[in-house]
Amino acid sequence: REVLLEVKGLKKYFEVGKKQVLKAVDNVSFEIYKGETLGLVGESGCGKSTTGRTIIRLYGATEGEVNYEGENVHGKKSRKDLKKFNRKMQMIFQDPYASLNPRMTVKDIIAEGIDIHGLAKNDKERDARVYELLETVGLNKDHANRYPHEFSGGQRQRIGIARALAVDPDFIIADEPISALDVSIQAQVVNLMMKLQKERGLTYLFIAHDLSMVKHISDRVGVMYLGSMVELTGSDMLYEEPLHPYTQALLSAIPVPDPEVERSRERIILEGDVPSPINPPSGCRFRTRCPHAMDVCAAVEPKWLEAREGHWVACHLYDEEAMKQN
Ligand code: SF4
Ligand code: MG
Repeated sequence: REVLLEVKGLKKYFEVGKKQVLKAVDNVSFEIYKGETLGLVGESGCGKSTTGRTIIRLYGATEGEVNYEGENVHGKKSRKDLKKFNRKMQMIFQDPYASLNPRMTVKDIIAEGIDIHGLAKNDKERDARVYELLETVGLNKDHANRYPHEFSGGQRQRIGIARALAVDPDFIIADEPISALDVSIQAQVVNLMMKLQKERGLTYLFIAHDLSMVKHISDRVGVMYLGSMVELTGSDMLYEEPLHPYTQALLSAIPVPDPEVERSRERIILEGDVPSPINPPSGCRFRTRCPHAMDVCAAVEPKWLEAREGHWVACHLYDEEAMKQN
């Protein structure tokens, strides 16, 4: 499989107050393959949105690299290079209402990227492109001169998708694109995204707070906790044989449709709250809530290791060396 994007030792820290540092993303490494959907999940505040925003350069990186087709997007770049990256990587936001300018018509919202990148020779071509994009996302020409408030949440998200597609990107980061929508609308938006992926060969990073949401759309899923990636593997593998105690707990909280299976299942209840990313626990960040925590967990940060082919995890239980130290 061909790697489209490599995230290497990525850190994004924010200064809070005078001397405190919030470690929103702390040493995260993973790859995204061309044409796949990588799901990224974790509770709110775990750093998944910040990871997405740093990949796409909405934030500068504190440390580490984001290599897009082998080029570090955070390296020193000319204006021309940055424009090229901006066109290849697009973002769809969680709240379609907040992310669309209320004073702009749908046409102008969608055409903004077309204008910036000079993708239409004249107004006629620009209009034609916008109308085509509206059709592509299940809207039409008649919607072009209206304003965002005239649309439902699902329609607004379609407009957001059309805006992202306008510059013909290869890679789209979708930050909780369906979380704000009614359940009945969620599947429609996911189906649209999957259809577009097939037609256009798009690569997605699909961010969600809940594991059941990413299951159907993702080829692989990464799980984050308190600024760290704790597990990453194929979707089926993650749901069938989760390795990390945190993933196991998250999955045990999802109800199973079969009542017999549901009754026999053991629910893993996590004690306590997620600690602050300003003062994360030493060693393994999950140790204050982990049912399997051992002495070594407080002393040593778990390595990010490939426990079996394509299945990455950061937990001492899968590290023979660490277990010997315990
Ligand atoms: Fe739990 Fe220790 Fe594994 Fe962390 S390293 S998840 S505390 S067993
Ligand atoms: Mg978020």
